[in-house]
Amino acid sequence: MAQNKEHIVMFPFMAQGHIIPFLALAQLLEKKKGCTITIINTPLNIKKLSSSFPPSSSIRLLEIPFKSSDHGLPPDAENTNALTPHLFFKFFQASLSLKPSFKHLMHNLVLETNGQHGRPACMITDIFFGWTTEIAHELGMRHAVFSIVGAFGMACYYSSCLHLPHLKAKSDETEFTLPDFPEANKCHSSQLSESLRASNGTDPFALYLKKVFTEAMKTNGLIINTVEELDRIGTMYFRKTLNMPVWAVGPLLLPSENGTNRAGKEAKLTPEACKNWLDAKTPNSVLYISFGSQNTLSKSQMMQLAMALEASSKNFIWVVRPPLEYDIDSEFKEDECLPEGFVHRIKAQNKGLIVEQWAPQLEILSHKATSAFMSQCGWNSVMESLIHGVPLIGWPMASEQSFTAKYLVEQVGVCVEVARGRSCEVRHEDIVAKMELVMNETEKGNQMRRKACEAKEILKDAMKDEDGYKGSSIKALEDFLTA
Ligand code: UDP
Repeated sequence: MAQNKEHIVMFPFMAQGHIIPFLALAQLLEKKKGCTITIINTPLNIKKLSSSFPPSSSIRLLEIPFKSSDHGLPPDAENTNALTPHLFFKFFQASLSLKPSFKHLMHNLVLETNGQHGRPACMITDIFFGWTTEIAHELGMRHAVFSIVGAFGMACYYSSCLHLPHLKAKSDETEFTLPDFPEANKCHSSQLSESLRASNGTDPFALYLKKVFTEAMKTNGLIINTVEELDRIGTMYFRKTLNMPVWAVGPLLLPSENGTNRAGKEAKLTPEACKNWLDAKTPNSVLYISFGSQNTLSKSQMMQLAMALEASSKNFIWVVRPPLEYDIDSEFKEDECLPEGFVHRIKAQNKGLIVEQWAPQLEILSHKATSAFMSQCGWNSVMESLIHGVPLIGWPMASEQSFTAKYLVEQVGVCVEVARGRSCEVRHEDIVAKMELVMNETEKGNQMRRKACEAKEILKDAMKDEDGYKGSSIKALEDFLTA
């Protein structure tokens, strides 16, 4: 597809969970294979990226014009982390306006025959930018979609969008078989994301996704941030059912930075402060809780979680964002969103850290004091947890996350689910029970830790490139470059 040292253009969707693995892929292609890369994104994302990753001679950052207020969005909303979930669809629709400018930029890049970067031969874009396949083919360029989501989660999400009306009819029953996945256990209708569940085949967001996914599958191949040995049902689905080349090149993780910035997001808790706090805790005693860069709980869910944390004997680090009912940019109001006196009591006992908005996740997951991760099962978080052998307590929120959680529970054995969605009712007693099941020396907890350690070895092996040995992901990366 592309040759070593070739110029590749990359275009991630405007969300932290997308930009981070795209950057990691760019760095891998640059370091291992000497490729030159142009990463395209909207002005604010590029500005943030250039402050945390000053462009190197081989990785160039390029702005594409975008003004969120032209689309009825809040000013400077160029990333899903700046938006409350009810505005996500509007943001996706606004992203369609990037098409003419992208086309123009690509035409200019193709004319750029001189200089360090030279004419690009290959375009790697987000699955949400399915419309780029057409532009790549018009320009005679190869195109690859990069799925930042694991193969099983992506395959189920893609397949459920495609089979929407039929699936909806089935999902009215409590349980149903996922089309295309006879080998996976039955699904429950609550595992479908909100737009799919609500849809009778005409929900605008669901139809939008169906269209972009269909366009994206006109690509020349699919690069996935996953590991073949861990995610075979999904990779085989794309290969066999969709007949497309698939390269599993993960886990793509950004190396921990010394500073507080990762992909442009400010960490309120510095890695040093976090390490000092964790150093004082006994091994395997801390629960890390984060729902990723763009999700949050409802106020009542937050209350129940806080009550559970107080009732349990475990330590915790909890990344909080304003609950669903509030503006995402507002200050986090602990007196309104947490039980009275909670923060004071937690501080007095030195039992937990409450971090607003953003924590140094890799530092936390790599620390020996961390025992489990309560997560929305976003794929970056899953990879980051498993590479450190940390089992998960899943609370999937949106999109493909329920399918990912299902896979981690049923096939990999490293997760138990505690709840589903942003609006479900939860009881603090049930949360405590799940925490204790996973974090204590129970049979299930021990088994999950063992499986998480096995997954860690599989993930590490995939990326090995030493003494003539190449792991599956390194081989896949080379295959992609020479295909
Ligand atoms: N992240 C972080 N600190 C936080 C929250 C998130 O560093 O407080 C990073 C996390 O390490 C991961 C990414 O943001 O790399 C979130 O991606 P994921 O796929 O887990 O979820 P999404 O944000 O896309 O829902």
